[in-house]
Amino acid sequence: MIDSPLLGSRSGFIGGRWDSGHSSARFEVVNPANGAILAELPLMSRDDAARSVQAAFEVLGSPISLERRRELLLALVDQIRKEREEIGRIITLENGKPLAEACAEADYAAGFYQYAADHLDRLTPRRLEENPRGHEWTVYARPAGVAGLITPWNFPFAMIAKKLAASLAAGAPAVIKPAEKTPLAMIALFTLLERIGMPSGLANLVFGDASAIGSVLCTDPRVRVVSFTGSTRVGRILLEQSAPHFKRLALELGGNAPFVVFADADLGLAAEHLVQNKLRAGGQTCVCANRLLVERSVADRFEQELVSRLEPLRVGDGMEPGVAVGPMIDRAGYEKVGQHLEDAVAGGARLTYQGRVPVGDDSDDAAETMSRDWGWYFPPTVLRHALPTMLCAREETFGPLFPIFEFESEAEALEMSNDTEYGLAAYLFTGDPRRAERMIERLHYGHVGWNSGTGPTPEAPFGGMGHSGFGREGGVEGLMDFVEFQTVARSPS
Ligand code: ADP
Repeated sequence: MIDSPLLGSRSGFIGGRWDSGHSSARFEVVNPANGAILAELPLMSRDDAARSVQAAFEVLGSPISLERRRELLLALVDQIRKEREEIGRIITLENGKPLAEACAEADYAAGFYQYAADHLDRLTPRRLEENPRGHEWTVYARPAGVAGLITPWNFPFAMIAKKLAASLAAGAPAVIKPAEKTPLAMIALFTLLERIGMPSGLANLVFGDASAIGSVLCTDPRVRVVSFTGSTRVGRILLEQSAPHFKRLALELGGNAPFVVFADADLGLAAEHLVQNKLRAGGQTCVCANRLLVERSVADRFEQELVSRLEPLRVGDGMEPGVAVGPMIDRAGYEKVGQHLEDAVAGGARLTYQGRVPVGDDSDDAAETMSRDWGWYFPPTVLRHALPTMLCAREETFGPLFPIFEFESEAEALEMSNDTEYGLAAYLFTGDPRRAERMIERLHYGHVGWNSGTGPTPEAPFGGMGHSGFGREGGVEGLMDFVEFQTVARSPS
């Protein structure tokens, strides 16, 4: 079991109180690196979700001033900065990513709250300069209503920051449902929210039965916005469930990111950025490069640059110093990467490099406190001659597989890049600025890295096109997700 000053309570949080709900059923949170059971948490239900919505709804009766919202955001930033190491430790234990990366996730999360606090004036009432019809016109940014926030396991602390920063900025009370694999970082966040004196009901936490809680958020009329990051499959369920209720949705779904390398690119730089980009969270992010499209004339050289950077990397328990790639989150995640690899090899691709995984410990001491679902380590693996018909081209692999596809011309590179229904992130490496501009204008992706594998940042809007969803998080655009504009026309008489 995990011991942490940020995990004093092991339950949800409803209406300003730690709350386990009414059901006696529980679920386990497991360390994917070694199978240790970190916590047993209450499996909360539809009723608990409905109580959370009620607690949140009550907040709307006493609107929270912009100044108070700013104070809360800044106090939260202070707390996160103070506790970054402990938050990082909790993230690594439940998610598996290396500790340095997990601490950086805490910093990244703090950036969203800071950005929202710094740009809160965007939500102050705006008096129009014109006076149409001789009236005085003012536009108010009102909280849109209760916000349902559903987050995935790959960034247990940062994904909620993107949503909660904006909903707190808007003064919209939230009901939060984290992924059941990684609820501990969220409990830690609520410990910090309690410390800063967050008004009761402004943020509520429920976890357990995902589909029951999700259906309350999608159908309860008091919830006006549902913001979700996760799979396209679940995004579609939420869209269908909420359609009859005319809810506003923000969906950040799967990706299938192309990483395009032209012959005129700095190949070393491209390989360096690729490794950084692709191995974040062990390849388990929706902005990780999925298809490596490399101009044929430089494919051999690029592969060498890539492999020379993969060789020194260690795969293992993220708590161990020097580990660059942690375990896959679970068996299903591991098996998907393996399936993509097998499918590609069966279709004629060549496996040219595979790293090593840690050797298992056969001892079965402490078997009672261990889960069986752990230790799914997948090493960085490079494939050549991958083809657009293979699974690794059609679906998001979500793991450290590096399939290299070859192209001959700019037109072919563009066509291959856009040959997917997804449109989240794309990366382009070329030394020719005119080519870059031509390509970028035609790439159907919400985020493009140009000679860079960098992903989202708190200061810029980020989100998808096509089946990757809609809505933007980050930047001033992201601050608008939880407000509703109300226009008041005042007659002079
Ligand atoms: P992943 O494949 O990355 O786990 P999911 O889309 O399954 O992505 O999960 C993302 C989040 O959606 C998690 O918090 C999960 O519990 C939640 N979720 C899963 N199924 C549903 C559902 N039917 N309704 C609402 N939320 C759901």
